[in-house]
Order: sequence, then structure tokens, then C-alpha cells
Amino acid sequence: MSTGIWEAYALRYAHHRRMARENFLGGDPHDESPMPMDYFLWVVRSGERVYVVDTGFDEATAKARGRDFLRAPGEALKTIGVDPANVEDVILSHMHYDHAGNLGLFPKARYHIQDREMQFCTGRYMTHAHMRFPFAVDDVVAMVRHLYDGRVVFHSGDEEIALGLSVHFVGGHSMGLQMVRVRTRRGWVVLAADAAHYYANMERDLAYPFTYNIGEVLEGYRRAHALADSADHIVPGHDPLVLQRYPAARADLEGWVARLD
Ligand SMILES: [Zn+2]
Repeated sequence: MSTGIWEAYALRYAHHRRMARENFLGGDPHDESPMPMDYFLWVVRSGERVYVVDTGFDEATAKARGRDFLRAPGEALKTIGVDPANVEDVILSHMHYDHAGNLGLFPKARYHIQDREMQFCTGRYMTHAHMRFPFAVDDVVAMVRHLYDGRVVFHSGDEEIALGLSVHFVGGHSMGLQMVRVRTRRGWVVLAADAAHYYANMERDLAYPFTYNIGEVLEGYRRAHALADSADHIVPGHDPLVLQRYPAARADLEGWVARLD
């Protein structure tokens, strides 16, 4: 029985060197200062109950997309004692390739996703190359197979999925993007995933350039602040600062796994 107080972890698995101008819609187009991107998955855990939030991409995808692959997400999970083969619940913030790969690693899992995200990645907008670019068809097909295996749990809007753990529709960056709110020993933490790529997106109120709906992105920043106990309780989806602002889960995991709770 869960106490409704969860541990929360961010696990870094990949990296991408990029410039600041690539990270803001409406920012300075000449800003060539470095602003690298990290790639994470997250885990919330309370006793025996484990929810994996997003599943990352694999090495082949990293190569195809020119990302530095640092550690396989399945191996990253094992460093904190989570065996993907035994995970029963995976929450997918959205279906982009860097959040919804590796689905074969979780043979027992149910997948929690917003109605609108499944509609989006299998519907009309995918006729546009620009819109389907961040999706990987194999991930989408895997989810359709999971659906027909009875392993998809749909959410619409905001829903509590366990005591002290809920999902919240944002949209914005992807049509059906959701973030996760979790009660921890230090209060309510929001795992924003791509509702905020960087702290600076929220601080400057500027969207990340790839977006389905800019207005929803900006409203999402407000929503994250409303749901979290403070700005320090919002965990952006791709910011290397996460590993500086939060303590390492263990000394040997410094720079890899942060404790967010
Ligand atoms: Zn992402």
C-alpha cells in the first residue's frame, strides 16, 4: 500500500551540443553561445510501486539523429534498482522519439498516455513531414500494438493515477503532452518533461522552437508553477542544470542520476 509520498529521480542518458538560439522561439537568432541539451527519463517510486516516466531512445536512434548516447535507458534504470522487465506502469509524457523509444524493454508495463497524443501521432497532422519529424514510426507502431494487447491506459486532461501522483494535460510542444505531479517528502514536484525544455524557457516565457501550439506552451509554464510548491519544484525535461541543482542519488551516480525529492 502506497503512503502517497514518492521518491523521484531524473536519469540522464544522452546529450546534444547546441546553441542557445536553437532553444527559444522569439529569442536572439544570433545567439551562438553554447546551450547543450541533456536527455532524461524519470522514475517515481514508493515502496514496491514504481512508475517510469518516459523511456528514452536507443543507440541506433542516437546515431541516426546525431545525439551522443551516454547510457542505455534500461541500464540507467538498473543503477537505481529498477528492472525494466518488472515495471508495471510507464507514463509517457508524449510520443516524441526521445521520450517513447525502447518500448520492448517493458514486457509487463501498461502505458499511460493522453488521448490526444495517440490521436496526434496516428492522425491527419502526420501527413506533414514537419509535424512527424520528432516521432519515430516504430515507437508509434509499438504503441498501437500495446493498445491491441490491452496495455494502454488513456487519460484525458488531469487525472490522479495513484495517491499523490497525477498527470496533467498541457499540449503545446506536442498535441497531447502531459506532465506529472508527484508528492514527495519536500512537497509537490512537477516533472514537466517537454512542457519546459529548460528553466530558461520558463524564466523568459519563451517556447522551445518545435511546437504544436505556442499559446499552450506558455500556459503550460503557468500551470507547472500552479501545480508545484515552488519554481524549484519544477523539473524541466532537457536542462543540464537539473543535475547541478539537485543532489546525486548516490556518490557514484554524480552527473547521471539526481534525486528530485
Ligand atoms: Zn524531448
